[in-house]
Amino acid sequence: MKRVAIIGSGVSACACGVALEEKGIDFTIFEKEASPGGKLLTESLDGFLVEGGPDSFLPEKYWTVDLIKKVGLEDELLCTNDEFKGTYIYSGGRLHRLPEGVMLMVPTMIMPLLKSNLISWPGKIRMGLEFFLPPKKDATDESLAQFVTRRLGKECLEKIAEPLVAGIHTSNPDNMSILAIFPRFVDMERKYGSLIKGMVAALKKLPAPDPSKKTMTYFMSLKGGMQQLTDRCIAIIGKERIKTGTEIQRVIKVRNGYRLVVNGGSGQMDLFGKKEEHFDEVVLTTPAYVTSGLVRDMDPELSERLLAMDWSSTATISIAFKKEDIRVKLPGFGFIVPKIENRRINATSWSSIKWSFRAPDDCLLLRSFVGGGHHEELLFEDDATLVGVVLQELRQIAGIDAKPIFSKVYRWVKGMPKYTVGHLERLAKLDELKGRHPGLHLIGCSYRGIGIGDCVKSGFDAASEIAKRRLSS
Ligand SMILES: Cc1cc2nc3c(=O)[nH]c(=O)nc-3n(C[C@H](O)[C@H](O)[C@H](O)COP(=O)(O)OP(=O)(O)OC[C@H]3O[C@@H](n4cnc5c(N)ncnc54)[C@H](O)[C@@H]3O)c2cc1C
Repeated sequence: MKRVAIIGSGVSACACGVALEEKGIDFTIFEKEASPGGKLLTESLDGFLVEGGPDSFLPEKYWTVDLIKKVGLEDELLCTNDEFKGTYIYSGGRLHRLPEGVMLMVPTMIMPLLKSNLISWPGKIRMGLEFFLPPKKDATDESLAQFVTRRLGKECLEKIAEPLVAGIHTSNPDNMSILAIFPRFVDMERKYGSLIKGMVAALKKLPAPDPSKKTMTYFMSLKGGMQQLTDRCIAIIGKERIKTGTEIQRVIKVRNGYRLVVNGGSGQMDLFGKKEEHFDEVVLTTPAYVTSGLVRDMDPELSERLLAMDWSSTATISIAFKKEDIRVKLPGFGFIVPKIENRRINATSWSSIKWSFRAPDDCLLLRSFVGGGHHEELLFEDDATLVGVVLQELRQIAGIDAKPIFSKVYRWVKGMPKYTVGHLERLAKLDELKGRHPGLHLIGCSYRGIGIGDCVKSGFDAASEIAKRRLSS
């Protein structure tokens, strides 16, 4: 019987496992931590539902919804509370509403932009000029900063694109690859000659709402939090197929497949006292810098390329308050902070306003982000110091001076890959090198999208490739 090993048990691994299960292909998942699920980490604490990692997914990347349906969680889908919707940007000492009609960074409505105090008059005129600017002639990659400055101007970059777009990726716009991160904007420029024209055309093409279909908001979650997804996948896959507390140390190529050198769990002892298991195909869902170490003996060149990728570190700090203690209005779903403001937090979501089922009725749950391309050194402070920093920032930025009823800090050291300029070319080279190892699959957030949707897709794609190889062998 041919066997598949999946290394790691995050959402990419879970998607791959569920798809392999559907296809009737046998597999085992190896996870180094005691609990499976990777970055999807939700905790129930004192009546609050706290997200340590991701708190949502984009339904536009429909693979996540596909996985949710496959595992029978459709009834658990959770929309944002859009009656409170709105993004606020901290600029010049106060919070400004992101003008209505600004889609990511592209204005699609004139009046709200003209009325906004966020952007200066020269900045507004510069953004409007985008409509008339000729498109770039060549197809070479450039940074997000170069792209936005060229099309929409420096002020749009600093006040909107950097906190909103680079912020999601916890990256620096000066070296983020526009081709890898926003190919859609590059296509719009090529096809319509202007992002404004392209975005307006895209909005016109949006289908009218279908009352027979479940309504989706721009961001979606699950009532029980994002970990509900990996928990359900694991229940369907079967716990007996998942070896937790089992760290893979090396993947070694042998004549008919691969040997895994295992630390912990079960497996046969080899002469050197290490445990080994044999598989026909191996799916590595680990971050590229871990994967680099796993394949080092097998292919030093591949290993070196995997190690070359940059990563950013971030922390999420959730703090709860009694509603009666908050004496200011919390506008929209929260706020983001441009890097030029040089504050110590990047963003805060009013989690229990944005989502239902996150806090008891008389309480509020807020979640702030620290690090991620801004002040990563703060991650090395202890929890009490970090919470203190966030409380001070919340007081100065949003006027919140209440005493918290609890707080929880999650650190994600090297948690987010940075897709820097030239990422797609480097991926093509990785694919070429990987071609030397049939049956070896590299998936997950390091390669073709960091969002949950792209990770799920990478898992589905690997399962299809494995099934195809079986048919042809
Ligand atoms: C703070 C934060 C917020 C985010 N917010 C969002 C969001 O709101 N929406 C969104 O779409 N995306 C978000 N993301 C991105 C998204 O969560 C991740 O890109 C995605 O979950 C990664 O999934 P993965 O399966 O590729 O990797 P992971 O979840 O990292 O899984 C890899 C697994 O491999 C295991 N492992 C590592 N080494 C070994 C080894 N040697 N042997 C065995 N196992 C090993 C790890 O323990 C881990 O379980 C966020 C990320 C972070 C850090």
